[in-house]
Amino acid sequence: KSKDLKGYAPICLGLEDFYTRRLYLRIQDCFGRPIASAPDSWIDVVERISTDNNKTLQRTTNTNKCVNLGSYNYLGFAAADEYCTPLVIDSLKRYSPSTCSVRVDGGTTKLHAEAEELVARFVGKPAAITFGMGYATNSAIIPVLIGKGGLIISDTLNHNSIVNGARASGATIRVFQHNSPSHLEEVLREQIAEGQPRTHRPWKKIIVVVEGIYSMEGELCNLPEIIAVCKKYKAYTYLDEAHSIGAIGKTGRGVCELLGVDPADVDIMMGTFTKSFGSCGGYIAASKEIIQYLKYTCPAHIYATSMSPPAVQQVISSIKVILGEDGSNRGAQKLAQIRENSNFFRSELQKMGFEVLGDNDSPVMPIMLYNPAKIPAFSRECLRQNVAVVTVAFPATPLLLARARICISASHTREDLIKSLEVISRVGDLIGIKYFPVENEKV
Ligand code: PMP
Repeated sequence: KSKDLKGYAPICLGLEDFYTRRLYLRIQDCFGRPIASAPDSWIDVVERISTDNNKTLQRTTNTNKCVNLGSYNYLGFAAADEYCTPLVIDSLKRYSPSTCSVRVDGGTTKLHAEAEELVARFVGKPAAITFGMGYATNSAIIPVLIGKGGLIISDTLNHNSIVNGARASGATIRVFQHNSPSHLEEVLREQIAEGQPRTHRPWKKIIVVVEGIYSMEGELCNLPEIIAVCKKYKAYTYLDEAHSIGAIGKTGRGVCELLGVDPADVDIMMGTFTKSFGSCGGYIAASKEIIQYLKYTCPAHIYATSMSPPAVQQVISSIKVILGEDGSNRGAQKLAQIRENSNFFRSELQKMGFEVLGDNDSPVMPIMLYNPAKIPAFSRECLRQNVAVVTVAFPATPLLLARARICISASHTREDLIKSLEVISRVGDLIGIKYFPVENEKV
């Protein structure tokens, strides 16, 4: 905004782009590493060797067995499971990998209907609809719910699928400061005609979009306060539970359960099956009227091939385990385990002096690296010492807020976690990312 900086902003942006391109060319082996196993607590990472001054990559067939701190396999369902896997294999034999049809023309199996009933019951809404891809659930549904003349108010750190859905809708978009109910209220007040809070004029409708656990921050949404503001200004709430459903809450019902929010107070609940359920696809859960409306109007429902039947079976089976409907108490054990693992790992990292983002109970815990040039050393050194981590940088984060994003699973054993902590601690010392040094560090 400063006059002095006028004209410099494009140059700075250009430089940012220039440096990140040059940097990524040199660190490309840290991203997109091929994996040769299921995304379990340990994975086989295919070694890729940089040659020719890092400009090209050579791939070998050697694999490196690593503790997996990167997958969203929160409850451990993404590997062979004694209840889920045999049922998934049966469904593959019976239905094949694909329905080869859209939902309205032969693409709805008995499994799809069962999964939608189960998802609705699990999240506490009257009805649900499923889609073949989590990303497309946001990017295709938001434009069906709102269009020109509507207002979307989105948390600044919302996922790219939400951003693209909002842009595609044609609605006016405003952002509010990350997780700040008071700034949300300020934005709403600014946007609503004086004296009209109850009718939200001049907008046809207002949707406020938030996430249950922010994927790059590991932070829980301030949901109760945000819902209170939305109710005051008659705005609809849209909650993306990609990382929270199944992972948190006493019975796995996500951020609503953990924070004591009645699901009836959230208008649209969105989630993906790619994390806690170890499957593929996404869902929207809402009132019967909204789901019916989506079934008749959403192009991604009408024109896209339905979810793969084995993936649907995986969703059904894993939810049944979580609910204890498989006849065991493995679901409750997994939920207790992920909570214990996450809180242990987070507190140990903090004790070592790392800057860790996010809240207790969240299995997502970013370790701040800040300078993106620290990515290759962190990522390569961890890999060399048999720990696979995900590093994240611009454009997924601001340029100087690069981080390693740890995802903890119920399937990690205490030994896995301690080994990983020892490696991360050594690498942290090596590259100087313990920003809060402590004395007598001991895992
Ligand atoms: N929403 C959020 C908050 C996400 O983090 C992601 C991806 N991890 C998605 C939506 C897209 O889901 P999917 O990867 O299942 O397509």
